Amino acid sequence: MTADKAPETLAAQALGLEDPVSGALVPPVHMSTTFARRDDYSLPDDRSYIRDHGATQEQVEQVICDLEGGYDAISFSSGLAACTAPFHALEAGDHVLVSDTIYHGVLSWLAEFAEARGIGYDLFPAGDLERFAGMIRPGVTRLVWLETPANPVWTVTDIAAVSTIAHARGIRVAVDSTCATPVLTRPIEFGADFVCHSATKYLNGHSDVLAGLLVAAADSAYWQRIRRHRLLAGSMLGSMEAWLLLRGLRTLYLRVRQQSANALALAGWLVEHPCVEQVFYPGLPRDPGHETACRQMSGGFGGMLSILVPGGRSEAVAVACRASVFKRATSLGGVESVLEHRKSSEGDVTSTPENLIRISAGIEHIDDLIGDFSRMLAKEPAP
Ligand SMILES: *Cc1c(COP(=O)(O)O)cnc(C)c1O
Repeated sequence: MTADKAPETLAAQALGLEDPVSGALVPPVHMSTTFARRDDYSLPDDRSYIRDHGATQEQVEQVICDLEGGYDAISFSSGLAACTAPFHALEAGDHVLVSDTIYHGVLSWLAEFAEARGIGYDLFPAGDLERFAGMIRPGVTRLVWLETPANPVWTVTDIAAVSTIAHARGIRVAVDSTCATPVLTRPIEFGADFVCHSATKYLNGHSDVLAGLLVAAADSAYWQRIRRHRLLAGSMLGSMEAWLLLRGLRTLYLRVRQQSANALALAGWLVEHPCVEQVFYPGLPRDPGHETACRQMSGGFGGMLSILVPGGRSEAVAVACRASVFKRATSLGGVESVLEHRKSSEGDVTSTPENLIRISAGIEHIDDLIGDFSRMLAKEPAP
């Protein structure tokens, strides 16, 4: 149905979903938690109860599934619910290899719950394929988990290379693609088996919905077990959130391209600034991930970047305290630019430097963003 249309068109028109009853161009939000059986007691479209099959949830799942080029997609009540579902669906005795540079919440789940569930895991240095290959435990390692570009130093991992190594040993590959979005990278095209999103971020894009998405490249017993986990853990996305997400997705391509252009311009300006020690952004030619990013990302390098400022924690916090156009807040991917002292959010589970400021570029005018940083770094107070 959708194969002949460009992703921009599919997103803008939400796959052409309309309300067949009223003809409304925008599909309604289905708040009903339960679905009436027909006269012969059969279920309409297999839907019985919302915890497994929500009508509005299925619409947003179909849009993401098509944008990622997947086989199936399911929505969750948060990004972290989506990220942890593949771990919940493993068997005791299974082993996973996890990139050491990933969203801190996933690291915390592993540190606090994996051992009690009999799941072994090892962290490999992000992007280091040799170390990754050397840490595989044949017949025991079941899954590799990575994020690219990865929080908060935007390390790029070669998805195709990891997938080739993993698949040769029967290991599945899951990619947290929250910061790339299908606009810039479609991990399944590079061999990934699962794509994960905190839809709270770019997919929704307006900092007003908490949601997660998991996309599978193909059907498998493992995928069905992940689906069962969502049903029985009860981590389904709410109907109103699903509807808002469907609306946010219509402008995904415009937003992400503008955010990427702003991030690139800002990174290029910051890298020349004497009060900035280091800039992490895969769009910069000197960034260690640039070459892989050029192969794996198209149309931009994403809206996320980080900087190190001279000094330590207090100096980094002081810079953040002078922000005015940039809002001081955690999270990312919204239309408004935000920055934060990242270590304050992550805590001890990561090795993020104390003098790192994480930046999520929004869609504002670039002159306002650069002007704000120029003043922050010159130690002039907020107007
Ligand atoms: C925010 C985030 C998550 C967690 O998502 P929530 O929606 O906050 O639960 C997971 N991965 C990445 C890369 C994120 O940025």
